[in-house]
Amino acid sequence: TVGMVALDAGGHMTVGTSTSGLFMKRTGRVGDSPLPGAGYYVDSTIGGAAATGMGEDLMKASLCYQTVQLMGNGLSASEALREAVYPFIARLAALGQHPREFSYVALSPSGDWGIATNVEFSFAVAQDDGKTQIYLATPNG
Ligand code: ASP
Repeated sequence: TVGMVALDAGGHMTVGTSTSGLFMKRTGRVGDSPLPGAGYYVDSTIGGAAATGMGEDLMKASLCYQTVQLMGNGLSASEALREAVYPFIARLAALGQHPREFSYVALSPSGDWGIATNVEFSFAVAQDDGKTQIYLATPNG
């Protein structure tokens, strides 16, 4: 998956995801990437977030939505991700559900950004003329 959260010089935000899904996936499988809340979420007045990882786990919660709501409560992008993502991974583990890859990026309208992950993953932050973008990608695309 490649996910992106972007902010333009006018303060408008957008989020996008693109994915090949899961290797050897069953026909008709739908992962988290097209699902608002689980795979992505944005509100220009608060911030945005995007996810990559094992959709079957990521879809058990709407952590992108939750992250943006926490940012709306005053948390930074990084704090909001930490508060949304890591307790959920711990909860799955406590339930014996063996959480697999969870990786998230988030960006606020002020350009403050953060990541949360339980694996190695690639991400980039780009800034140009007051515009900020944060991208993520899993090692396997
Ligand atoms: N999240 C995607 C899916 O489960 C896979 C990925 O991020 O690579 O469909």
